[in-house]
Amino acid sequence: LGRRINSAVNDLTRSATLDEKAFDGMIKEISNALVEADVNIKLVSSLRKQIKASVKFNELPARANKKNIIQKAVFDALVDIVNPHQVPYNPKKGKSNVIMFVGLQGAGKTTTCTKLARWYQARGFKTCLVCADTFRAGAFDQLKQNATKAKIPYYGSLTQTDPVVVARDGVEKFKKDRFEIIIVDTSGRHHQEEALFAEMQEIQAAVQPHQTVMVLDASIGQAAEAQSRAFKEAADFGAIIITKTDGAAAGGGAISAVAATHTPIVFIGTGEHLLDLEKFNPQSFVSKLLGMGDLQGLAEHVQSLKLDQKDTMKNLTEGKFTVRDLRDQLTNIMKMGPLSKMASMIPGLSGMMGGMDDEDGASKLKRMIYICDSMTAKELDSDGKIFVEQPTRMTRVARGSGTSVREVEELLTQQRMMSGMAKKVKSATTNAQKAQGQM
Ligand code: GDP
Ligand code: MG
Repeated sequence: LGRRINSAVNDLTRSATLDEKAFDGMIKEISNALVEADVNIKLVSSLRKQIKASVKFNELPARANKKNIIQKAVFDALVDIVNPHQVPYNPKKGKSNVIMFVGLQGAGKTTTCTKLARWYQARGFKTCLVCADTFRAGAFDQLKQNATKAKIPYYGSLTQTDPVVVARDGVEKFKKDRFEIIIVDTSGRHHQEEALFAEMQEIQAAVQPHQTVMVLDASIGQAAEAQSRAFKEAADFGAIIITKTDGAAAGGGAISAVAATHTPIVFIGTGEHLLDLEKFNPQSFVSKLLGMGDLQGLAEHVQSLKLDQKDTMKNLTEGKFTVRDLRDQLTNIMKMGPLSKMASMIPGLSGMMGGMDDEDGASKLKRMIYICDSMTAKELDSDGKIFVEQPTRMTRVARGSGTSVREVEELLTQQRMMSGMAKKVKSATTNAQKAQGQM
């Protein structure tokens, strides 16, 4: 999608006659790209008007950077749509906050409710899970396994077949035990059956959730609008979580769902791993959709790592990035699991890791860590210039780590690039911290 939009804009700026007709043609091309990315057709047509109105092509000064102006207009219009200008429910410490999940089967409810529980647990909430999916065989087992892995208390039943009873009993028990975040997982059917909606409403009435979250698969496509409307009518959810944003889908359906229900997206799922959950950020979501890279997301991710991050964060906020910072990052990436995801957020690294599967990537990472471990403290805390001034250091490190000089050089190139990026991350981090107060 990003490529198509960019090429549409490029065609315009390259063409000799920058007339209004060429501009119209470009907007049409962008619109088609958005529809192909599953943004709702009606939405695209109103976007089209909005962009035309905001750019005022005829009034642009002759020497204005038209490409930038147009790209920014597209970006702003999309951000405006996914930004529903509504503050989601913010759980309070010291009381029982009940959060209920709804969504179709396979959307990612069970996976995501454990991720969300862990997210709150890591922020000091006393957190637990209730499995009210008695419809699917094995549903309780799945939740049990996830919860055990994350060390989160759970409730469910193998014998009780009424999900309403299980939900009510579980929530009551955990409320008595003064749990602060009680997340209720429910079942989803294949289609939007009456039975599903009736069950959802009964559970909702029984547990009185403070927040109902609809889980939506990013690949839902043009069906997103109708589906989210139907769920909104039946269960009046107050927040959306989009899952599988790491997949191939462009995610245009998600935009349509927000526009149709005026409900904020609060988190996005970015993988199958327990930690693959990120706070939703409209700017970063749209830049990804448009293929502009994701510095904001990277900054959030760095913050969520917590471990070994104090100095790196301090350096980053000062716009610095040493070899030791790179080493800490590499160790954390190893800890975080799926490499492709982290790598895709770091422009240079995605090139280096390109085409490798996770196993290749992991062994490459290990070698990079060995290289760092063969350095002296002085070298680690340097900005890397020391190696350029005294190249024999590279030979020594390569020999010590059992790698090659070429690999050492590669690592230093990586660090230099990160150091250049640190300045950009600095401003993005400030923005992310501002957003931290909300859910
Ligand atoms: P439910 O039926 O709504 O409870 O869906 P599940 O939680 O069982 O998830 C269905 C499948 O989607 C599982 O294989 C999950 O691992 C997978 N899944 C969930 N969230 C994500 C995500 O963010 N990224 C990826 N790649 N897979 C996910
Ligand atoms: Mg499930």
